[in-house]
Formats: sequence, C-alpha cells, structure tokens
Amino acid sequence: MNGRSVLMNLKGLLTPDPNSRWKVDRVDDAAIALAEGRVAWMGRRADLPVEWADAPLIDGEGAWALPGFVDPHTHLLFSGDRSGEFNRRLQGVPYAQVAAEGGGIRETVRATRAATVGELVELGEARLKTLHSRGVFHIEAKTGYGLELEAESRLMEAYAELKGRGWSLDVTLLPAHDIPKEFAGDAEGYARVVAEVWLPELVRRHPGLARYCDVFIEAGVFSIHQGRRIFESGKKLGLQPRIHADELSWTGGAELAAELGGASADHLMFCSEAGMKAMAEAHVTPILLPTTTLCLGMRDWAPARQMIEAGCNVALASDFNPGSSPCLDPLLVLRLGCLQLRLTFEEALTAMTLHAARSLGHGDLGHLHPGARTPIALWPVKDPLELVYWVGGAYAPKVVA
Ligand SMILES: [Zn+2]
Repeated sequence: MNGRSVLMNLKGLLTPDPNSRWKVDRVDDAAIALAEGRVAWMGRRADLPVEWADAPLIDGEGAWALPGFVDPHTHLLFSGDRSGEFNRRLQGVPYAQVAAEGGGIRETVRATRAATVGELVELGEARLKTLHSRGVFHIEAKTGYGLELEAESRLMEAYAELKGRGWSLDVTLLPAHDIPKEFAGDAEGYARVVAEVWLPELVRRHPGLARYCDVFIEAGVFSIHQGRRIFESGKKLGLQPRIHADELSWTGGAELAAELGGASADHLMFCSEAGMKAMAEAHVTPILLPTTTLCLGMRDWAPARQMIEAGCNVALASDFNPGSSPCLDPLLVLRLGCLQLRLTFEEALTAMTLHAARSLGHGDLGHLHPGARTPIALWPVKDPLELVYWVGGAYAPKVVA
C-alpha cells in the first residue's frame, strides 16, 4: 500500500509482541496507522496521534486484526496427488508395500519429473492463492520431488517465476529428500553427489534464489554423517541448514541443527531433552508439524510444552506435501497446536506468526507493531478464540494489503 491511511472500525487487534518471546498484546476498539505498506502506529482508537487525523480511512468492518500467518515448512511444488493410496493405507497396507509397488513418494517424483516449469508454476500459484485466502501471507517452500539435477532445477525455475509474480516466499534446496531409484541402496553415493555436484550447480544456475538447504535425516534415509556432509557443502554456498529431524525415531537431528548453526529443526516427535536444550542455546527454531502426525495416524505428538520450558521459540507449520500432510488449512494447524500439542491459543498464534517469521529471518513479519509489513488479516469474529474453538469452522479473513 502506498501513502498513509488508518485502519478504523476494528473490534480489536491481537498481536505477538516482538520484544518478548510469548507475550501477546490485545487491544480492544483498536486502530492501525499504515504508511508505505508498514504499520506506523497501533493502539486504542481513542489514542490515535493527531497527525493521523486527516489520513484516509480503511473500514475494518468490525473485524479483529491479526498478523498474517507465516508457514515456515512447505513442499509447495509437486505434481499429481496420492489420493489413490489413501484408502489402502486406511485398510492397513503398510507404506513400505505401497512404496515397493511404485507408489508413495516415487509416484510424486515421477509426476514431478514429467511436469513442465509452466505446469509447476500454475500448480504452485493455485496453492498460494488458497493459502493467501486463508490468511497465510508468507511461506518457506522446498524443492525435493525432482531428485535429479534437471528436475530440481526446474523446481527452482518455477519458484523464481512465482517470486517474480510477487508471491512472498523463501526457497530451500532439498534434493536429499529421499534416495532416488537411480541410487537405490546407495545413500552414501547420493549424498556425495548432492553435496559435491548438485548443490553448487543449482546455486550457480539460480544465484540468490535459495536461502536454505534441508536434508531428511531418518533411519533408512540419510544418516547424521551424510546430512552433515550436505549441510557443510550448503554452508559454503551461503545456505543455512533447516533439518527434517527426529520425525519417526531419534537420530540426533536437533543436536546437529544446533551444532551447525541451523535456522530450524523440523518435526521432532522424537527429540531428546539434550536436543531441546541444544536448540534453545543455539537459537534454532523447533518447527512442529501437527497435521503430519495426524495424517500419519501417529500418537507421538511433538513435546511442544517441554520445548517451551527448555527455552525454545517453538514454531508451527503445515508441512504441506502430497504424502503425509495434504493440508493448506492454517486453522487446522492452529487447532491441533492447541488441542494436541497443548499450546494456549496465544502460544499457538505466536508459533504461527512471530516465531515462524523469525525462523526465516523476517523481523518485520508475524506481528502488528510499528515497522511490521502488511498485509494484515481481518477476521470476521467476535473474539479471536473462535478461530480455534469452532473445530472445522470455515473462517476466511479479509486482507488489507
Ligand atoms: Zn517436510
């Protein structure tokens, strides 16, 4: 938004305080002064400074103003879907069998390799529009369904095009998402190629596009040792680690993120206490993905409360992907954050705004204090708690850009 304006007629505003870890400010009968696409002032309408008295007004229509959600872990770009295996898995067919028959992630890799850049862009833009209409205004987005140099490079091209169209996103390179069939049984060889050849080549072809590098560290996928090799190569190229860590078993991924100065360690259903302490000390953001736990039918919810007590700034994300979290619904993430991870509403909101934004290095996103970037989400509710209280409630915010 250009120029100056004042957002008026708000029932209230609710925002994390960027000067604190978990404090949330609630202002009834609020107004927000905007200048050049940023919050210039916010507070009670009655306290609006006089210099804003003649600024054009935007009608808040009696809504609650909240910062936009930031989703710090998505696999935005892939082709095809995996609805075909949904019933089979419900009937108890193990994922390993689905995968052995050519389903699972291999099906997505096949479809993604066959997609053109144009097709990937259209798929990505439709998904971004859905997220935006639900109040998510910034995301992290990974490659990782190409698993070969040219296909990973096409995913990067598609992300560059989406950014060029004005979508607000940060890109993470994840060629080490799985072991492709060309390297079956040779995780070591694949990790070496990713570290020594593909990462440097992808950064050379798409300079400045990726900010992060990710590895799926898990038993049967990549080891801590292989992950370290890839992350060390990424760091030399200016890519900070984000790690798929401790999801299905403890592997020490959280500890590795702390050791390497990672931005985040994600999933963490089986994180150790030492891992939590290490993340708190090294300012690594634990990013918890409760819709994945839900969709996998697991009972091991990430120990969010313990992490907060250990001093971690916990964030929440969707893990949007076709296998274990086909979910573009931030309110479901928020509700599971409360109902299963046992966060208060204010904590879950902070985890999906302020801490999510900080894990991506954006101090001007995820809050409504002066300096914060628009857009702002206006939710048509009597009280923001309605957003989590009505399970399945289909709310959509109006967006003030
Ligand atoms: Zn993921």
